Amino acid sequence: MATWDDILEQNRKYSETEHKPQPYLSELTGPLPPYMIFSCIDPRVPVEKFLGIQTAEAIIVRNAGGRIKNNINDLVFFDTFSQGQTLKNIIIIHHTDCGYTHNSDEAIKATLKASNPQHAHDIDRLYFGTYGSGDRLEESVREDLRFLSAQPLIRQELIDNAKGYIYDIKTGKLTQIPLEGRTAL
Ligand SMILES: [Zn+2]
Repeated sequence: MATWDDILEQNRKYSETEHKPQPYLSELTGPLPPYMIFSCIDPRVPVEKFLGIQTAEAIIVRNAGGRIKNNINDLVFFDTFSQGQTLKNIIIIHHTDCGYTHNSDEAIKATLKASNPQHAHDIDRLYFGTYGSGDRLEESVREDLRFLSAQPLIRQELIDNAKGYIYDIKTGKLTQIPLEGRTAL
């Protein structure tokens, strides 16, 4: 595993050999990415790699669990900033064996309270969006799709085109999880 100093050295070499200056926003002429993908911070879930896409082809928002609720502002910001002219698809990808399948918000809060009893009130107000106990992985994807559908500030086109998937860390395959009453597209 590289040390941080090693990594900084890699950056220095990159800046001197590989880097191509990027345009300022005012200089952009080409289209911006049409996909915003919500996925987990887990390093076993390399989104660009398993989708075979370049960084510029999608905006990838990563948080614990890949939950859209925790980063909905990113979607509102980007779609507003780009005047609704860029995004076409919202993609939600949760994955097998996610840490969020092995934890509950209640358990995290209990652990936090044990070491920070003086902040119990603030801890009670935290939201992580863990999937909780039991086999709730598919349901967690549906929850995010339903959450997106209920957002008044999100364009209907994006809601209609939203898709949810489970990424299998063993096979590398995506399986679509449609909302109830809808078929996978
Ligand atoms: Zn995860």
